[in-house]
Amino acid sequence: MPPVIPTRPALLAARVGDLLAWHLVVRCPCRGYPRSIPLADIAAEHGRRLTLGQVAARLRCARCGEPPQSVRASPGDPFASRAWKVILK
Ligand SMILES: [Zn+2]
Repeated sequence: MPPVIPTRPALLAARVGDLLAWHLVVRCPCRGYPRSIPLADIAAEHGRRLTLGQVAARLRCARCGEPPQSVRASPGDPFASRAWKVILK
């Protein structure tokens, strides 16, 4: 059965604590490659009640401090061959 892929609005309203197996894939122009952030790490540091919309709006690059150019959400390992991603930003 094909995966049920959530819509962007549904994901933006979803809480980090309900998506602990998911990862965000973040791109910043200061790096040539995307970085993956486990939502479990964000939940541990900032709490489980934040929505993905709040997280996407608050993310800053650890290297240059700028907001990321793009943010995507993926269930499980985002770099696995069959991984799909939902564009948040
Ligand atoms: Zn950067």
